[in-house]
Amino acid sequence: MIHYPQLMQSLDLGFCQLDNRVIMGSMHTGLEDIGAFDRLAAFYRERAAGGVGLIITGGFSPNDEGNVFADAAKLSDMSELPGHQMVTDAVHDEGGKICLQILHTGRYGYSENNVSCSAIRSPITPYTPRALSDAEIERQIDDFVACAQLAQQAGYDGVEVMGSEGYFINQFLVRHTNKREDRWGGSYANRMRLPVEIVRRIRAATGPNFIIIYRISLIDLIPDGSSFEETVTLAQAIEAAGATMLNSGIGWHETRIPTIATSVPRAAFSWVTGRMKPHISIPIIATNRINDPATAEDILVNDQADLVSMARPFLADSQFVAKARAGAPEDITPCIACNQACLDHTFSKQIASCLLNPRACHETELTYPPTNTPRRIAVIGAGPAGINFALIAHQRGHQPILFDQATEVGGQLNLAKRIPGKEEFVGMVAYYQTQLEKAQIPLHLGHAVTADELLQADYDDIVIATGVRPFTPDIPTDADAPVVGYLDVLNGTVPVGDRLVIIGAGGIGFDVAAFVAHDGPSLTLDQEAWMAMWGVSNISTHRAGLAPTEAEPDGLRIAGRTITMLQRKMTKPGAGLGKTTGWIHRRALRQVGVRMLKGLSYRRFTRDGVVVADSASETGERLEPADTIILCTGQTPLRILADELADKLADKLAKEAAHTPAARQPELHIIGGADEARELDAKQAIKQAAELAASL
Ligand code: FAD
Ligand code: NAP
Ligand code: SF4
Repeated sequence: MIHYPQLMQSLDLGFCQLDNRVIMGSMHTGLEDIGAFDRLAAFYRERAAGGVGLIITGGFSPNDEGNVFADAAKLSDMSELPGHQMVTDAVHDEGGKICLQILHTGRYGYSENNVSCSAIRSPITPYTPRALSDAEIERQIDDFVACAQLAQQAGYDGVEVMGSEGYFINQFLVRHTNKREDRWGGSYANRMRLPVEIVRRIRAATGPNFIIIYRISLIDLIPDGSSFEETVTLAQAIEAAGATMLNSGIGWHETRIPTIATSVPRAAFSWVTGRMKPHISIPIIATNRINDPATAEDILVNDQADLVSMARPFLADSQFVAKARAGAPEDITPCIACNQACLDHTFSKQIASCLLNPRACHETELTYPPTNTPRRIAVIGAGPAGINFALIAHQRGHQPILFDQATEVGGQLNLAKRIPGKEEFVGMVAYYQTQLEKAQIPLHLGHAVTADELLQADYDDIVIATGVRPFTPDIPTDADAPVVGYLDVLNGTVPVGDRLVIIGAGGIGFDVAAFVAHDGPSLTLDQEAWMAMWGVSNISTHRAGLAPTEAEPDGLRIAGRTITMLQRKMTKPGAGLGKTTGWIHRRALRQVGVRMLKGLSYRRFTRDGVVVADSASETGERLEPADTIILCTGQTPLRILADELADKLADKLAKEAAHTPAARQPELHIIGGADEARELDAKQAIKQAAELAASL
């Protein structure tokens, strides 16, 4: 039986065949920028071996002006070829195919040297671009062509010309950014001259047997962006200019509508690709928030696209295609679209990785080889730290035994999955549950482990992964003050009123605010309602797919409560949230009227609310009225068991010191929240667990 038959169907491009319809979309890993091509080659090698039809690299600039930032990755010189050849050799060794993405950032370049069609600064970068002259535009085109030729020499099977997401080419296409009146501006024919010339000249320079993918912005989601008619005109001209395939671009980076975050419904934009498909005869690729083979297969079955691109899912699991082909989708490590270890890293100039798979982009450093000395290991706590430790230790040949006092695995992930917009955590917990069962790791749920029972059993190692407990701040509190903890609210063990004050505006404060502000089914599971709330409209009737502005978008269904979030710091509330997602949480809550107040000192919790003062001046004491005060004030490590064990082990050691040889002692390890609760998230817990499991 062929699983996912449409997805697994090969595609004949005339001069070459793709094994299947799955594209690994372009992702900047950061390895390009530091010249770590050996690591990049290892990263792509694993993905090619996993059977993906075609890989597209992260973006490489064709010249200095087009760079993401000074010294970021570019391909403009013969001297840069050897590193690329390592990459193409690795992919071809595994029978894969790979295209290089040519990315010119234009006004999005984080550099004083950036250039564009007009000198208009973007709202998301601090530098105003220099407007190019006619001759300089010609030189940019030459640089695109030279870059494609270098890619061909390096052994790439083709290139992707990045024409979407608001980058250089996209900037020429729309009046929002293109104010020129020469042959590169004004009419649409003039504005689209740049991409058409780039594709036409790349085709002429690289010959007929080279893949050229053009990433077209199908829905700009910005004011005065392209109309659908204009985009169809462009697509047809790009096809005529010699492109092999079109890839879908969704929204500009400056768009105030989320397009790939976890709260975006799965495959939320494949309908846009489907709208374009009948207008062209070359294959078209669907993208954005596709993270499982069934959704990808549906897109092809519904004739919305010819191929499906997934990017982050290949960070989470290099074997995505092999597992889908084998009919084992439950074994695919899911991408939960959190951005925490991938895009958030990229935007803070760290090497990208994956929250669920810390090996991603670290393939040469973090390895899980079989062990020659299997150990019996008790793992206490089946949260992300304990589970990941157990799975990797088992994979290496150790014998982990997992305990949790709760009746389900997942630890705090079971709270995260209740937050509207975080439904992907449901799949994450289900994945862990299945993998533990398949690995037949002994699992004892509903079992609060004691130090004595651990010491009586003859374990080689004891791994404490008991997580955290909420931190209760020392604030004067009246006996009848309606103070509750976030655990009680999320678990539904206490009722909450209609006038709420949340103390603490960290990740959990924001999640709890969303939980209590929301009513009814999550918008993430209701595509139409989600589009209406965020103002995504029909591209045929509304330019760039933006709904008329009178409808204020929001991300939640209003529960009708008055909610105020308080924090002591003077920084913007939610400043510590994800770099690429914090704005979505802030916007969604603001739109439903959640007040966010900062710079406060808490004087007293009373029956009527929270007495606060301005923390800078310690004046202006006032009441923030509340019928429920919810504490979201951080956590401390839950280490009762670890401390007790450490004491008993020390006692035992002292008593046995007289004996020779001394009795064997289990080795004690502490990971995840039990080790360090400050700034702990699932990414850190899983990484620490993986590193320990790799080291034993
Ligand atoms: P936990 O997940 O706390 O697991 C510890 C486990 O140990 C528990 O199952 C507990 O029952 C068990 N245990 C404790 N003592 C014993 C004992 N004596 N015997 C047996 N079992 C015991 N992180 C992110 O990265 N991204 C997010 O979007 C995110 N959202 C969150 C939303 C919410 C609402 C919450 C509460 C947390 C969120 N987090 C998020 C944080 C993340 O869930 C934690 O950082 C992570 O779960 C910590 O992992 P851990 O394995 O160390 O501990
Ligand atoms: P957190 O982000 O550290 O926030 C704790 C909040 O409590 C802060 O707003 C802090 O604000 C306040 N606080 C701390 N000590 C206080 C005190 N003594 N008195 C009063 N207020 C105090 O922790 P968290 O919100 O509990 O989240 C825990 C972890 O889960 C975090 O590491 C987070 O990354 C992770 N998480 C992530 C996400 C996500 O979407 N990525 C979502 C949820 C949770 P002030 O000090 O300014 O008052
Ligand atoms: Fe997906 Fe999150 Fe991993 Fe990025 S870090 S690949 S979004 S699961």
